Amino acid sequence: MKLADVTKRLATKKQQLEIVNLKSSHNKAKLLASSNKVRKILDTASLKVRLTVGIAAVAAIGLGSLAAWTSMRMQHILVSTHKENMKEIVARFPMDVEIYSEMVSVREGAQRAIASLSTSNKPIWIKNSEGEVLAKSQTLNKAEIGNVLLAVDNVPLIPQVKDLNGSYWLMCATPLRVNNTDLGMLYLAHNITKDQIMFLNLIRGLALATVIAIAIMTTVIAVYIDRSMRPLKKIGQLTATISADKLDQAHIHLEQAPSEVKELAETFDKMLVRLAEAWEHQRELLSNVSHELRTPLTIISGYIQSILRRSDNLTEIQTEALMTAASEANRTVQLLQDLLDLARLDSGRLQFQIETIILNDLLQEVIGMAEQYSERTITLEAEPKPVAIKADNHRLKQVLLNLIDNAVKYSAPQTPVALKLSEQNDRAKIQVCDRGVGIPLQQQNRIFERFFRVDESRNRAGGTGLGLSIVKTLVEGMGGNISVRSQLNEGSTFTISFSTSLRS
Ligand code: ADP
Repeated sequence: MKLADVTKRLATKKQQLEIVNLKSSHNKAKLLASSNKVRKILDTASLKVRLTVGIAAVAAIGLGSLAAWTSMRMQHILVSTHKENMKEIVARFPMDVEIYSEMVSVREGAQRAIASLSTSNKPIWIKNSEGEVLAKSQTLNKAEIGNVLLAVDNVPLIPQVKDLNGSYWLMCATPLRVNNTDLGMLYLAHNITKDQIMFLNLIRGLALATVIAIAIMTTVIAVYIDRSMRPLKKIGQLTATISADKLDQAHIHLEQAPSEVKELAETFDKMLVRLAEAWEHQRELLSNVSHELRTPLTIISGYIQSILRRSDNLTEIQTEALMTAASEANRTVQLLQDLLDLARLDSGRLQFQIETIILNDLLQEVIGMAEQYSERTITLEAEPKPVAIKADNHRLKQVLLNLIDNAVKYSAPQTPVALKLSEQNDRAKIQVCDRGVGIPLQQQNRIFERFFRVDESRNRAGGTGLGLSIVKTLVEGMGGNISVRSQLNEGSTFTISFSTSLRS
């Protein structure tokens, strides 16, 4: 086989393996999603589940009790007439035996009395204290009935239903005394199999109907509760989307909701208004304080710089102390400037002066400015043709200087910093690349948050954690977007892109 064929086959096998892997990960994701769904439905802490279970339990207890009571009543009605009948026989039987035994022996008299009272359906028999049968109905001579009935022990004094191999009998026993002589026990039985089977079928039907009714009621209750909870869920969803800087525009509007939930939404709305006011006051305070502190601190920094420049009789310790004071003052002035910028951006007071900018020229200018502040060489790789966008010249410079400042701060002094400019698919792309410490992958999407700094220990360069959040707000405010690609100890590339369509 040729080498090319072997490579081709291997490639196909690899593709098949990849497809199998893809399918299995897809199935895993599906499984995870459905297990999450089930967990959500069975969440015992949820109000929906608790209400549904509670109401369904009450309904089940109610319906179950009703069904049990109905069946008890039916059983009572079914046997009560037979019971009365049996009681009558029990009361009459000793007198009948006495009458018959006037002419014959008591045993014979009892047999005759039984013959006159019993039918095939209602056998009667008498047993003496030794358990010997003294007299019995004709029916009991039949083996299949006789053997079963005569063998029954513990027959109760009050008539009770007994299940004897699938046939149902109402049975009772009573002591028999004739002419002041104890004859033993008189046993009465009544075959109620037909009625009992009908009754049992009825009970089964009733139980099934009860279960179905409970299931339907539970479903209806669950749906109803789910619908009633929807406005609450909506409030949750709406509040989750409210951000701190859009508090004044936030409004919870519910079309159809119970009046209690509407009241809750109105209370939320009022609270949002209060929060928006408090937020606005806080912003104003921050902006005023930043503004008031920046001027004196700039003056202090200026004086320290001038002492450092002009005095040549300072000791080494004094120079070092003044340099630390100057650097801290500068850092604080920068922080105050950043806070002021953010306050202006948040309050919408920052106006952009949008104009057409030729990026090739702007980047040259920015590199010139950046090189004045640092010793680092900054290279430019730009398209030969001019790339024009619409943006605010001053703010775009601020953005780029900030990104270059970071690139210099977070890379070694001898490594290069490069600016790249390209145009593709109606978008201009500016990249600021360094070969510095890089940013860990899990923190790359957090570096644009306010006051976020990657691992303080490596940030010896100093900073406020506000620079990138200002950069992002400025870029997005001018209609562009910003992203980062970085690898630890390899370097970072910040990319900002703008549309090159000059219509505004
Ligand atoms: P800072 O004032 O701390 O520089 P930024 O908002 O400018 O604040 O940056 C946030 C964090 O992102 C920094 O603390 C730093 O850890 C990281 N970072 C920003 N730019 C770079 C870069 N070019 N290389 C490595 N890390 C960077």
